[in-house]
Amino acid sequence: MTGSLRSRAVRWYGLWLALVFGITGVLVLLGFRHYLERTLAASQRTRALRIAGVTLRAIESGDSDLRELMTVSFAPEATGRFVAVTDRSGRVLYRSGPPQDQSFDPALIPNPAGELGSRRVQGAGAGELLLTTIESGAAPMQIRVATGDALAPLLVEERRLLATLLIVFAVLGLVAIGGGYLLVDRALRPVGELTRSAEGITSRNLSERLPEPVIVDEFGELSRALNRMIARLEEAFQHNRRFLDDASHELRTPLTVLRGELEALNRESVPGRFRDTVASLLDEVERLARLVENLFALSRLDAGRPTTEWCRINLTQLATATAEQMRLLAEDRGLRLESDSPLQVLVRQPVWVEGDPSRLKQVIVNLLDNAFNYTPRGGAVGIVVRGTSDEAILEVWDTGIGIPAEALPRVFDRFFRVDPSRNRSDGGSGIGLSIVKAICSAHRGRVEVLSTVGKGSQFSLRLPRVSESNLPESGAQESTAS
Ligand code: ADP
Repeated sequence: MTGSLRSRAVRWYGLWLALVFGITGVLVLLGFRHYLERTLAASQRTRALRIAGVTLRAIESGDSDLRELMTVSFAPEATGRFVAVTDRSGRVLYRSGPPQDQSFDPALIPNPAGELGSRRVQGAGAGELLLTTIESGAAPMQIRVATGDALAPLLVEERRLLATLLIVFAVLGLVAIGGGYLLVDRALRPVGELTRSAEGITSRNLSERLPEPVIVDEFGELSRALNRMIARLEEAFQHNRRFLDDASHELRTPLTVLRGELEALNRESVPGRFRDTVASLLDEVERLARLVENLFALSRLDAGRPTTEWCRINLTQLATATAEQMRLLAEDRGLRLESDSPLQVLVRQPVWVEGDPSRLKQVIVNLLDNAFNYTPRGGAVGIVVRGTSDEAILEVWDTGIGIPAEALPRVFDRFFRVDPSRNRSDGGSGIGLSIVKAICSAHRGRVEVLSTVGKGSQFSLRLPRVSESNLPESGAQESTAS
């Protein structure tokens, strides 16, 4: 079964209610039928006794016109009843004629020679009949009297009761289901609140806790259990971050020393056979240093540490300035870099965002760096900034090798690389894009990618756009951009 817990509970409740109403209805109808038949049988018995009394008196007094006496005293044809009187030997003393309402055919009803008591008689013409037979008088004047009534009026009463029950159950059912829905809705409201609060807790705000209701019910227990779990997660995350932080911090110093020493060695006249080795060592140290810097940046972003600078930034200017700084690298790789010139930026309407300029610059550097790395010589890379009414959009595109569709959802994962052998220059580490994503989230933005293998890729960064007067413009950003 599908649907929310709320509708499932109401559906089950509705089914259960229908079952209860069904059983109750059947029991009430059977009880009602039994009651009506017993009442009718009792009145038939009284009537039969009266008929027997009248018959015995008539036989004693020698009054032979029993038919007339019966018509005057009981009028069975006019009242739609059946009456038959037999003597001990089974000889019929009296038998009523067809009733005026034609509700049964008396010719089809057996003489009262059979069993005593009340029973249903089938096939008496139009419908069933309830027949009560008694024995009266002492031998030799013993007689049997049978009297019957059509059951059709009882069935009409039964149908009336059934219709009433259906209406009452339908109204009760609707009221009960409506009430049940409200009850379930009320009972499940804490689940919605819990879900919303739990959705709001990410690795950035693990110190927050879910609200714990004052009344300790099942939801209170669930809340508490989830909070204990979040506390354990927070501890594990902190442990992880501390480790990453400490490790990258400790690695920085020896790497700086190593790089310095190797650069010094490189400058001196190294014997020819060692020159390549020193250059390759320097490359590897550079790569390691970049990796450590990236890890350090990630650990700071994960910790959600406050940035040193938070200000209003002209994103167009920042993108252009960063692209200009990287133009030489693009030319080195034989790529054409397309971006606004600083002059164009001056005349165009600026697109402002709020944030940390050095981190946003890191995003642009990482995206351009990837575009350079994954675009073969002769290709083009571009950077564009545009704005909608509420969003600032930065796009970095390239005509490079592209990303296969199945890898697209994972490119922002840590240490994910589509194919480790693809990066031709220095073999990336697979965390550049996860840093981009973390910085975007810290700026309440998002990053998306579109790509076609063999044609190129386009990364789009979307940040909330701010109006020019919101925050003071950054001094640092001015210097970066200029
Ligand atoms: P790396 O250091 O390996 O470049 P990233 O996190 O920056 O790590 O990127 C993850 C993976 O996404 C890369 O290994 C690469 O396979 C793929 N990728 C990123 N940018 C591009 C691009 N512009 N064109 C093609 N593939 C890309």
